[in-house]
Amino acid sequence: MTIPDLSDEKLREALACAHIPSLMASLVHLTGNLALIRGDIRPQDGFILGPDCGISEAHQQHIRDVAFDTIRTFKAQGGKTAELSKNDILELCEFIIAAPVEGPYGDLLQRELGLDGGDTFAHDSFEDIPPESRASFCVVIVGAGMSGLLAAKRLKDEGIDFIVIDKNADVGGTWLENTYPGCRVDSANHMYSYSFEPYDWPQHFCDNHVLLAYFQRFADKYGLRDHLALNTEVSSAAFDEDAGVWRLEARRSGGEAVRFEGNALIMATGQLNRPRLPEIQGRDTFSGIAFHSARWEHDQNLTGKRIGVIGTGASAFQFVPEIAKVAGDVTVFQRTPPWILPTPEYHDFIPEGKHWLLNHLPFYGKWYRFWVFHSAGEGLLDSVRRDPAWRNWRSISAKNEEVTRILEAFVHEQLADRPDLINACIPAYPLGAKRGLRDNGAWLESLRRDNVHLVTAKIDSISERGICAQDGRDFEFDVLIYGTGFKASDFFFPMEIRGRGGKTLEQHWQGDARAYLGITIPEFPNLFVLYGPNTNIVINASITFFSECEVRYVMGCIRMLIDKHRSVMDCRQDVHDAYNKWIDQGNEQMAWGTPGVSTWYKNAAGRVTQNWPYSMLEFWQQTKSPNEADYQFS
Ligand code: NAP
Repeated sequence: MTIPDLSDEKLREALACAHIPSLMASLVHLTGNLALIRGDIRPQDGFILGPDCGISEAHQQHIRDVAFDTIRTFKAQGGKTAELSKNDILELCEFIIAAPVEGPYGDLLQRELGLDGGDTFAHDSFEDIPPESRASFCVVIVGAGMSGLLAAKRLKDEGIDFIVIDKNADVGGTWLENTYPGCRVDSANHMYSYSFEPYDWPQHFCDNHVLLAYFQRFADKYGLRDHLALNTEVSSAAFDEDAGVWRLEARRSGGEAVRFEGNALIMATGQLNRPRLPEIQGRDTFSGIAFHSARWEHDQNLTGKRIGVIGTGASAFQFVPEIAKVAGDVTVFQRTPPWILPTPEYHDFIPEGKHWLLNHLPFYGKWYRFWVFHSAGEGLLDSVRRDPAWRNWRSISAKNEEVTRILEAFVHEQLADRPDLINACIPAYPLGAKRGLRDNGAWLESLRRDNVHLVTAKIDSISERGICAQDGRDFEFDVLIYGTGFKASDFFFPMEIRGRGGKTLEQHWQGDARAYLGITIPEFPNLFVLYGPNTNIVINASITFFSECEVRYVMGCIRMLIDKHRSVMDCRQDVHDAYNKWIDQGNEQMAWGTPGVSTWYKNAAGRVTQNWPYSMLEFWQQTKSPNEADYQFS
């Protein structure tokens, strides 16, 4: 492994932006000397203490100096990285996360770390199945977003025939559809990316253009475009029990009807696919311009306009600060404030020096992703788990309260000169009950602007001219923007999916979506769902981790179907029911299960239909490979 030339000045600049624990791990690879991580300079708690992990500035500088000399010596000697033993790697893992790495979690962490270049989410090999058998099995995938493309790539690797259908003109799903100003990912990109497809991200949290380009490049690189049916909207999918195949009806954007057929159907349409407009009286009477955040009308010039915004969720949180810069006035209607998660680097570009470290310093990038993975993963889960003995009106455990106080202090500090806004910006529900929103200060800064007004009075109705609030005030607008979210619990809306006996999923679910592992549904054989019921995560890991687990599992199912000549597999009802009972019990323990707090995590009956309540390790283990006994084959 060679390190490219760099001037002393540039090297010092690069080291100045290093994540110190990852740098120390990298130095161990360069020297083979573990003494460096056995001293007093060590990370403490990655989440609360931030990226410096509680290491003092003096100690950080000491490590940078050591790194400078070590890298110079390594280069001068034409260095070779040390062979580290399994125990050495384990010690490094424990050092980085400042906790023991035990049992199966250790296994997951080491696989995720991927020092051996292995595939973290490898499914069972298809090698023993004759290529003809694989090629004669066809899979239809609906949705060309992050999960659908991943399934396509894995199927292609195994020589299985497939087609990916998408209503849109290109791949990218959510990153194609959401183009509102300020749109960006709020999971760190070094983790919000496929485990086997790293990328030199320009920012820690990239905008929609960068994300879209990543998925477009992925489709190109793996030759998936030949398998795409774009501009094609599926209206129905029905399982033909006699033939054991799924038949789909669709329409191309030009109006032409088309049909597809496959041995298996993978639904990869996501949870946040169809915009939701609120049921507010008079909504259609507004005579100005009105649109939803996910259907942004870019040809509308917002400069100088009077704009009303409904909602303060993740989308509005990002576009309000942007439109406020050009609008005449922005009036934001807030029903419930979100908890704000301070993220100073949220909008920052990754400095040149950090790119250099990530790309050229041996193993630095691997350890950095590892740290991000853990600190944004299991490290946070405890803070949103209910302690039954805890008695407090707005928190659910001591840890939850501790983090709440930090977040509250952030709001107080930001709004020191605007005490009138403080109460409105501090939620009265436990942290984690709704999605917490990252912010580098931009949101509160925008609320402090003279041309931005926060209205907490409830909306009574929408009129021809604007919004009437329940406190009697009338607001006039030129433009109304709905930041009101998505029909999350209406999975697959508006498609009609028919399983055994012609029963629709709508009839089967009765408004209460459930699946086994979020993936399979009794009476809907050979149907596999990605990002299905109860696979959303609130605080731990990233959704790509879950997609990779799900696709690994589905590949296992498809392998079983082909290998064993069992054309149809159907999830056992008792297995499904027991699993869902366990899911419900888990969700009741979590902040998002808090009764009385309404979110897109719950369905109309108040059951949490979207979220996974356990650790990512648990999901990783459960979805490792399908258990034949969970299914009936015919
Ligand atoms: P959302 O989180 O569901 O927020 C909808 C907002 O509209 C809430 O503030 C809600 O208030 C409000 N609202 C709904 N109906 C209303 C009514 N009748 N009157 C007044 N207010 C009403 O939707 P979103 O902001 O589009 O975000 C959805 C999800 O998409 C996020 O949670 C996240 O998972 C994802 N997302 C991610 C990113 C990212 O990665 N950066 C960006 C955007 C979205 P209540 O809270 O009172 O219900």
